[in-house]
Amino acid sequence: METTERRVLVVEDERAIADAVAVRLRAEGFLVHMAGDGPSAVQAARAFLPDVIVLDVMLPGFDGLEVCRRIQAERPVPVLMLTARGDETDLLVGLAVGADDYMAKPFSMRELAARVHALLRRVEKNAARPAQKHLIRLGDLEINQAERRVLRGGVEAHLTPTEFDLLVHLAGRPRTVLPRERLLAEVWGWADASGTRTVDSHIKGLRRKLGADLIRTVHGVGYALEVDR
Ligand code: CA
Repeated sequence: METTERRVLVVEDERAIADAVAVRLRAEGFLVHMAGDGPSAVQAARAFLPDVIVLDVMLPGFDGLEVCRRIQAERPVPVLMLTARGDETDLLVGLAVGADDYMAKPFSMRELAARVHALLRRVEKNAARPAQKHLIRLGDLEINQAERRVLRGGVEAHLTPTEFDLLVHLAGRPRTVLPRERLLAEVWGWADASGTRTVDSHIKGLRRKLGADLIRTVHGVGYALEVDR
């Protein structure tokens, strides 16, 4: 049995949607806090210390992408982003700024609850996994699995939980091409190949934070971590 209540921050300015989401998540046993605009979402992330954030993109103040950027810069938190249907730009930018998963509106409350549970399970399972090697050193890359910290050339990079897990997977088999479908299955736990764009977006995030030369793209196949021994 879990002992502590999981905390969810729901960021949505449309009151009806926010209320429906909060009701459903409270019924699932979550402690829910709500914010209705960009600045108060960033404030709430600091004060409430959520375990997961459900974040709408279109918000007053500044948008959900900016909220995600600011929150992730302070403390990595798993983010489920809510996007307008078919807005692929929002989706890709969202994943690039550190969202872990996304859902297009309209969505069912049942699906939302399932995604929040899945996201938490994945992050908690990966965080709790006993690290085989606490410290991975590959060239100028240093990954501390116990503390979930990453340095390249002695400079710390602030990764989201998903980016960290993806990097650890790639680092487990350096210079080996890992197919996107396999990364999706191992890091996200999805067998569905249609989600491989998610892998691409998180690779983009890793390159932005750790240097473009670190990960090689093998077109049509997948990715490989390129570091010296
Ligand atoms: Ca909105």
